[in-house]
Amino acid sequence: MPCIASRSRPLVLRGTLTTFRRRCGKPSCRCANGQPHESPALTFTEAGRTKTLTLSASEVAEVAAAIERYQSARAELDAQADSGLARLRSRRAGGGRR
Ligand SMILES: [Zn+2]
Repeated sequence: MPCIASRSRPLVLRGTLTTFRRRCGKPSCRCANGQPHESPALTFTEAGRTKTLTLSASEVAEVAAAIERYQSARAELDAQADSGLARLRSRRAGGGRR
């Protein structure tokens, strides 16, 4: 059961959608003449290092939605932390101990 639950949980990702460009190295290929192969990619930081994960075209929309999920959840958490700070401050401003 936990397996099914975690599989149906929406994907959450931290990072940025980018385009990954590379040359395959074949001298006869178009990429040798300045037209590199392009593929969508997710760039993210893991353990202090920037990493890139190339994506298939069909994954782009899913990954974009997953990044969106992370950002809106983070924004919500930041807002909660801001109001937490405001409450802590107003407690002090409001005359100290009861
Ligand atoms: Zn090539």
